[in-house]
Amino acid sequence: MRIGLLAGPGFGILTTIMHIDLDNLGEPGQLNQSETTIPPPKRFCIIGAGIAGLILAQQLARMGFEVNVLEAGGLDLEERSQSLYAAEMASTEHTGTTLGRFRTLGGSSTRWGGQLLSYPDDVFKPLSGSLSIPWPINQSVIAPYYDQIQQILHAGTLPFTDELLPALGHPPSPFSSDIRLRFSKWAPFSKRNLAQTVGRECLTDARIHLYTHANVAELQAADGRVTRVRALNYKGRSFEFFADHFIVAAGTIESSRILLSSPTVPNEHDQLGRYFHDHISFPAAVLPPLTRSQIVDRLGPFLVNGVLHTCKMEAAAELQIGHKLLSVMAHFVVQEPEESGIAAVRNLLISVQRGQLKQALTKNLVPMLSGTGDIARLFWSSKVKKRRAIGKRAILRMNIDMEQPGSAANRIRLSERRDSLGLPKAIVDWRVGDAEYETATKFARVMKQKLEEAGFASLEWIPGVLEGEKPTMVDTYHPMGGLRMGVDPAVSVVDPNLKVHGLANLHVASCAVFPSGGSSNPTFTMMALTLRLADHLAQLA
Ligand SMILES: Cc1cc2nc3c(=O)[nH]c(=O)nc-3n(C[C@H](O)[C@H](O)[C@H](O)COP(=O)(O)OP(=O)(O)OC[C@H]3O[C@@H](n4cnc5c(N)ncnc54)[C@H](O)[C@@H]3O)c2cc1C
Repeated sequence: MRIGLLAGPGFGILTTIMHIDLDNLGEPGQLNQSETTIPPPKRFCIIGAGIAGLILAQQLARMGFEVNVLEAGGLDLEERSQSLYAAEMASTEHTGTTLGRFRTLGGSSTRWGGQLLSYPDDVFKPLSGSLSIPWPINQSVIAPYYDQIQQILHAGTLPFTDELLPALGHPPSPFSSDIRLRFSKWAPFSKRNLAQTVGRECLTDARIHLYTHANVAELQAADGRVTRVRALNYKGRSFEFFADHFIVAAGTIESSRILLSSPTVPNEHDQLGRYFHDHISFPAAVLPPLTRSQIVDRLGPFLVNGVLHTCKMEAAAELQIGHKLLSVMAHFVVQEPEESGIAAVRNLLISVQRGQLKQALTKNLVPMLSGTGDIARLFWSSKVKKRRAIGKRAILRMNIDMEQPGSAANRIRLSERRDSLGLPKAIVDWRVGDAEYETATKFARVMKQKLEEAGFASLEWIPGVLEGEKPTMVDTYHPMGGLRMGVDPAVSVVDPNLKVHGLANLHVASCAVFPSGGSSNPTFTMMALTLRLADHLAQLA
C-alpha cells in the first residue's frame, strides 16, 4: 500500500490520501502472464468508484469495515480509459452507451444532471392490468434512505410531491387527480460530482484503499462463492484481489459485461445481460409565449437555496390502466441560446462540476460580460422570486418520457472483438417497440386534453404527434437492467437483497438490477438500494 499526495482537478489543495495507482505497481507485462500481484485482502471489495461504489465504500467504512475499491479510470477522465467503454450496436443506436458513461473516479456523476425523484409506490407494485413489470420489493424498504441521499447531494428537504406548490406559497395543482404532479430536485452543481464530495472523504479514510487504473476483467468463482477478482492495469499486468464479499458497481452496461466475461459465474438460465432498458423521450410540443408565461407562472421551475425544482406530469396508475399506457410523464425543457448570459453561467457551473473551472472562465467570460442583463435577471429571480430565470429568447418544449416494457431480447452480449486490454467488447442489442410508440401517441393526446382542462392556452404540437405518426425517440442516458432483480433465478440475476443467485458473496449495486424503470430519473432509487445494501452487507460480515 502507498500513501500518496493527491492534487487532481477539482480537489484544490494537496491532501494526504490512501490511494494506490495500479499503473505504478510492477513492470510492463503480458496479458495473462503467470506472475500476478496480490494486494492485501479486505472484508469487502467494490468494483467501480462511481456513484454506487463511492457511497457504498463510504457507508461501509463508517461502519468500521475495511474496503478495497477497484476503479478502472484515474482521478481525471483519460482517453485510454474512456475508449474501453466503446461498444457495438446490434440494432437501434443506444446513445447513452457511447455518450452517457464516464470511466473515471466519480463515474457518470462527473457529468450527470443531478436530478432526483423517488419512484412512486405503483412502480414497485403496479396495479393489476398495468403494462409495467413489478419489483420484488416495496418502496417502504428503501424509503428510509431517502433523507440520507438528499443530504449527500445537498438537495434540501422540500417535498417531491405537489405539496411543494403551497409550501412555496403557490396555488395547488391545476390538474385532475389522474395527472400526478410531482417535482424533481436538481442537486446544486457544486455537489453533483461525487468524486469531489464522497470521493474526497473516501480518499482520506484509512479504511478505504482505492486502486485506480484497476480494470476488472473477470470474477472467479468456485463452490458457490466468488474467490477472487482479476484486474489489469494499463500496462497489461494482472492483479488478484481477495475479499469475503464482492460488490459489482461498475455501471449498468459494464456490470453485465464483467459478469458475462466471467465463465465461472453461473448463467444456466441465460439471464445475464437480459432485460436491458432505458427511459425514452421525444419532444411533443413547443410552448408559444402566452402558454409559456401561464405555465411558468403556475408550475415553475423554482429555485430554492441552489436546488432547482422542475415539474413532472405523470400518468397516475388508473390513467395508465384505462389507456393501456406504460409509466409515462410530460415535463418542460428550457433551451437557452448558447450565446446568452444565462447559458454562459450554466456552462461555468457545469465546469465547476467537472473540475475544469480555469478553462471555463476563459471560454465563458465574453458571453458572461455581454449577457450581464441576463445574469442580473438570473440572480434577482433566484434570490427574490425563488424561480429560475428564463431568458426571453429561450425555447420551452414539452417532452414526453416513458419506461420500456420488459423484453428479454433487449440485452447486453459479448462480442468476438476485443478492446485494447484484450477483453471482449460489449454488444448493446436494444430497440424501441410498438408499446412505446402507442404510449407516445395516447399520452400526447391525454396531455392536450388535461392542459386545456387546467385552463392553459394551447401548445404548438410537433406535426404528426397527435395523429399517431411515430416520433423519433431517443434514450435518456439512463441505462437499466441486464442483471435484474427477482425471486426466480429462471428470470432474474439478483435476489431482492441484490445478491447474485447461486453465489453467496457476490452483490450488485447498479441500475442494472431494475426490473422496470418507471418514468422518474433512476439514480435516486439506485442510491437508496445501495445504502440498503450497505446495511445488509454489515449484517453478513
Ligand atoms: C449527461 C448525463 C446526465 C444524467 N443525468 C441524470 C439525472 O439528472 N438524474 C439521474 O437519476 N440520472 C442521471 N444520469 C444517469 C446517472 O449518471 C447514472 O444512473 C449513474 O451515474 C449510475 O451510477 P453508477 O455508480 O451505477 O455508475 P457510474 O456512475 O457510471 O460508475 C461506474 C464506475 O465503474 C467504473 N468501472 C467501469 N468498468 C469498470 C471495470 N471493468 N473495473 C473497474 N471499474 C470499472 C467506472 O469508471 C465508474 O467509475 C445521467 C447520465 C449522464 C451521462
